[in-house]
Amino acid sequence: MSESLRAVKGMNDILPPESARWEWFEDKVRALMRRYAYVNVRTPVVEPTTLFVRGLGEVTDIVEKEMYSFEDAMNGDRLTLRPEATAGIVRAMIEHNALYNGPLRLWSEVVLFRHERPQKGRYRQFHQIDIEALGHPGPDVDAEQILMCRALLQDLGLSIGRDVRLELNSLGQANERSAHRAALVAYLEQHADALDEDSRRRLHSNPLRVLDSKNPAMQAIGEGAPRLMEFLGADSLAHFAAVRGLLDAAGLDYRVNPRLVRGLDYYNLTVFEWVTDRLGAQGTVCGGGRYDGLFEQLGGKRTPAVGWGMGIERMLLLLEAVGVPMPDAAVDVYAIVPGPAALAVATVTCEALRAAGVSVQMHAAAGEGQGSMKAQFKKADASGARHAIIFGPDELARGEAGLKDLRNPATPQVAVALEPIHGLVSRLRSAPTRAS
Ligand code: ATP
Ligand code: MG
Repeated sequence: MSESLRAVKGMNDILPPESARWEWFEDKVRALMRRYAYVNVRTPVVEPTTLFVRGLGEVTDIVEKEMYSFEDAMNGDRLTLRPEATAGIVRAMIEHNALYNGPLRLWSEVVLFRHERPQKGRYRQFHQIDIEALGHPGPDVDAEQILMCRALLQDLGLSIGRDVRLELNSLGQANERSAHRAALVAYLEQHADALDEDSRRRLHSNPLRVLDSKNPAMQAIGEGAPRLMEFLGADSLAHFAAVRGLLDAAGLDYRVNPRLVRGLDYYNLTVFEWVTDRLGAQGTVCGGGRYDGLFEQLGGKRTPAVGWGMGIERMLLLLEAVGVPMPDAAVDVYAIVPGPAALAVATVTCEALRAAGVSVQMHAAAGEGQGSMKAQFKKADASGARHAIIFGPDELARGEAGLKDLRNPATPQVAVALEPIHGLVSRLRSAPTRAS
């Protein structure tokens, strides 16, 4: 294939059987959201560039170098493929006055774009599960969201503490950060010679971000820096203590990481990350926190808010690394159709089975003589289906079909009446079918 027709670098095709893992993951997510009463929201992939510049802050990795921005050829508008989910959701809430009737808890599955250097767990198009609770000021909702993440990780088969663990910090409020900032700048200036280029540039524009650097040398300098926690006032400390108290009560272990500042400007108070040692430098699978100032920053009414984003590709890589088994995507029944005479009955029966919730793969083009019985049985075996249903002429003459348990080949084939259909359905349901 010519180079110019290949997928764009850093953007992945998700093909079977891998796509079955995605669907399995999404099923777990939907069930979780229902249990926690978070409702779905969907916003556009393209937004005005200014939304992200204003929402995320100019001196952030994303806005400085990772955005896919372009000019609309029709009218010259500056547009951007969304690099994160929150700004677009908050824009939609403000635009539609959607919090008029009170707070909302929302979730979304989003495709995001960032112009990063592609590597394992880091792509230019990637996906997140994103949740946002809008209008709740209290620490209870911060804790709720962290515990939601724990529940999901457990549902997926991961061990909390061994496979993935929680890191927590508080960024306090803007005035507390500016007091800390003065002390931090003074400290960093003493180490100015040792700072890398990014950090030197951020020394005055956004010094907190130096602590967020991926460069180990910067992280070492960060170790000795003045701690933001020591600049927090009574209210911020009380909020943090309350979040911790709830996590303690729920039996969730965590580490307070004073260097955890998150990559975006809009966070305040609680910030957290779920991290793993199994994915190298791409060790953060989920990150979030409170962002009480974002609504105002985007021209809305002051609205407390908290949310997190979970990278789906990284989660799936982690599941693979830990060895969580692939979900079974096989159908319940493979329909074997010996010849054209059986096609109409087979089609009608398969439709009735599907309407009753049984998954059926019918051998294609069998009516036109494609595939001997032997070849069709081989396909049935390879499909992983639990049963084969055989529309043989002798059985059909008696109003029956043959049924074979493919996972227990020693079990003999039996004949089952086609009418009423529920007899056949319960037959197919009686044995364990798909793994869930
Ligand atoms: P990192 O520090 O790894 O760059 P981040 O702080 O930029 O992550 P967030 O903006 O907080 O990430 O996004 C939340 C989650 O989305 C991350 O924890 C990660 O799981 C996932 N993620 C972020 N960037 C990428 C990417 N380029 N490719 C795949 N997943 C990503
Ligand atoms: Mg990043």
